[in-house]
Amino acid sequence: TEACLSEIEGAGALNAFVHKTPEIALEQAKAADARLKSGDAPAMCGIPLGIKDLFCTKGVPSQAASNILEGFKPEYESTVTQNLWDAGAVMLGKLSMDEFAMGSSNETACYGPVVNPWKVDERQLTPGGSSGGSAAAVAADLCLAATGTDTGGSIRQPAAFTGIVGIKPTYGRVSRWGVVAFASSLDQAGPMTKSVRDAAIMLGTMCSHDPKDSTSADIPVPDFEAALTGDIRGKKIGIPKEYRLEGMPAEIEKLWEDGIAMLKDAGAEIVDISLPHTKYALPAYYVVAPAEASSNLARYDGVRYGHRAKLGAGEGIVDMYEKTRAEGFGPEVQRRVMIGTYVLSAGFYDAYYNRARKVRALIKRDFEEVFAQGVDAILTPATPSSAFGLGEMADADPVAMYLNDVFTVTVNLAGLPGISVPCGLDAKGLPLGLQLIGRPWEEGDLLNHAHVLE
Ligand code: GLN
Repeated sequence: TEACLSEIEGAGALNAFVHKTPEIALEQAKAADARLKSGDAPAMCGIPLGIKDLFCTKGVPSQAASNILEGFKPEYESTVTQNLWDAGAVMLGKLSMDEFAMGSSNETACYGPVVNPWKVDERQLTPGGSSGGSAAAVAADLCLAATGTDTGGSIRQPAAFTGIVGIKPTYGRVSRWGVVAFASSLDQAGPMTKSVRDAAIMLGTMCSHDPKDSTSADIPVPDFEAALTGDIRGKKIGIPKEYRLEGMPAEIEKLWEDGIAMLKDAGAEIVDISLPHTKYALPAYYVVAPAEASSNLARYDGVRYGHRAKLGAGEGIVDMYEKTRAEGFGPEVQRRVMIGTYVLSAGFYDAYYNRARKVRALIKRDFEEVFAQGVDAILTPATPSSAFGLGEMADADPVAMYLNDVFTVTVNLAGLPGISVPCGLDAKGLPLGLQLIGRPWEEGDLLNHAHVLE
């Protein structure tokens, strides 16, 4: 813990840790020492972690990287972080992210962008997003692991951009209680770690059935670490033809081929599969996610949390709502609230929101059919490129940024577990990640496949 705290002090330029909690960390570390001595030491005992700013941590600023939550210190602890503390883990502080987890570059954070610790020329690179602070902190060894959340790729894309492991569990595996909501039917928390084994251990601690989250599944949590046998002989790996995008960079093609070869060498059978509705996933996601976000973010009204705008003479409560939200939400969040409100409005609900829900059902069915054919896992690239430069996409059409999520959003729409595993470097020397998608509730098996790719 002390070593991590001093690394964090020296790594201010990365801008990953935005609220440091050294007093809490040292106190928890002492308690962990005592537990270790007494022989009662769970797997996470004494492990120093960084926590994404989206998690509510009692008495510690939890801002979702938004000005609207400035000064907000929750009265309660999220279930996921509580599970980690109960298992002896140590909180080093809170990590930056895109505002309300909306973004793929960590550039929408109210704290300014996070810098990717990977550097190959004079450019500063994005660590990806929205869990960019988590990814940068783990990659730069500021903590042993971090929590992330993934609504459309926010664990897997930054993991790929920084050369670490990130898993989004099956929807319902991890409690959403106390995690600031973005799109409730898609959001899941997960670990971001240096290795698949670390991910297995940490995921096991994060999971629990939680009556405080009505979508939390009441099913047993298996020993994910025990599943890491490295034996995938006879397993069927699907390669979806729809993920072979036109104009995909040659090095992403090669990464995919290398991954296929590794799984084949380990005794798996490779089969071509089709997920025919894949091309509708991004448009469906960018209707469903903003719709849910516009509803979830209605609670930030200047009354209940954080920032409240100052009013002029004669201004009333409606002015207060409007001014507070105009001042507190950044441009990307405002865009999503407007899109979401539009697609949910009486005149457009059927044309957009209802249609997107139907498309979502078809995407889910595509996966169900493939799994019914005996496929154990699906292999795809995690991202269409390696990390891009900070500011490079800032002035581009927002849709260009949304394209980062092309390989990841299907997994959230279908509620499936997905993992990103670092698999080598591109020609510039930057990390690339492969994604494996698993059957629902089979995270152990998924982690075992990922272990073979390490
Ligand atoms: N990049 C996607 C978005 O902006 C995904 C974000 C996420 O998974 N939280 O919505």
